[in-house]
Amino acid sequence: MNKKMPILFVGHGSPMNAIEDNVFTQNFKLIADGVEKPKAIICISAHWVTEGTKITAMENPKTIHDFYGFPRELYDIEYNAKGDVELAKEIQRLLGASLDLEWGLDHGAWSILRHMYPKADIPVVQISIDYRRDSSYHYHFAKKLSALREKGVLIIGSGNIVHNLGMIDFENIETYNFGFDWAERVQKIVNEKIINGDFESFLDYKKLGQDFALAIPTPEHFLPLIYILGLKEKNEKIKIWNDILVGGSLSMTSVKIG
Ligand code: ZN
Repeated sequence: MNKKMPILFVGHGSPMNAIEDNVFTQNFKLIADGVEKPKAIICISAHWVTEGTKITAMENPKTIHDFYGFPRELYDIEYNAKGDVELAKEIQRLLGASLDLEWGLDHGAWSILRHMYPKADIPVVQISIDYRRDSSYHYHFAKKLSALREKGVLIIGSGNIVHNLGMIDFENIETYNFGFDWAERVQKIVNEKIINGDFESFLDYKKLGQDFALAIPTPEHFLPLIYILGLKEKNEKIKIWNDILVGGSLSMTSVKIG
């Protein structure tokens, strides 16, 4: 049997991380350096939410600059990784999802990948998040991708666990470990549950009270984590990294499994 590739959840944070050299982006690179070079990458990004599940299937996905009010430098970035049509078709068979020729790579994918794989020499396929489905559905749905881990495919979820943009204190967006009380509580609870493998207890996070309601006001940044947890197999190691709150209401917490 071939070796299984690890799986990663990466907290992407502000689009500015795409062009900054900071602790987070240095760790993106370190983590990638610690993984055998993948044959292809699948990214489940918080920034591609659709009705039904879609898979990018173009040969040359375009770089999408899906943010507003940032410096020009950020709009000039192109991440010219190729797509992987064969892999897209294989995912289609596994998930029963549809192929997409319109999307490309959104900043949830390229803002981290340009640090992880700066040469852009590994093909990238994105899978969208079906907004009609709940966490429990995504948790079980993700497991269908499991076999790809033995084929040299690196599966990355890109989002943020604590993510409340409406409450961000922009004066402290670059202050590390600056978290509101509720954000710190959610960070601690989720981390404990991740380390203990107790994933199913927070799938229904809407029932976990006001702290969670503030931390996860909308599901799209949380669900990429659920995909990665869904893919964990017995006895795999779990490592939490970039476990830092910024701006009060944003956690960069990331997870490596395997
Ligand atoms: Zn985001």
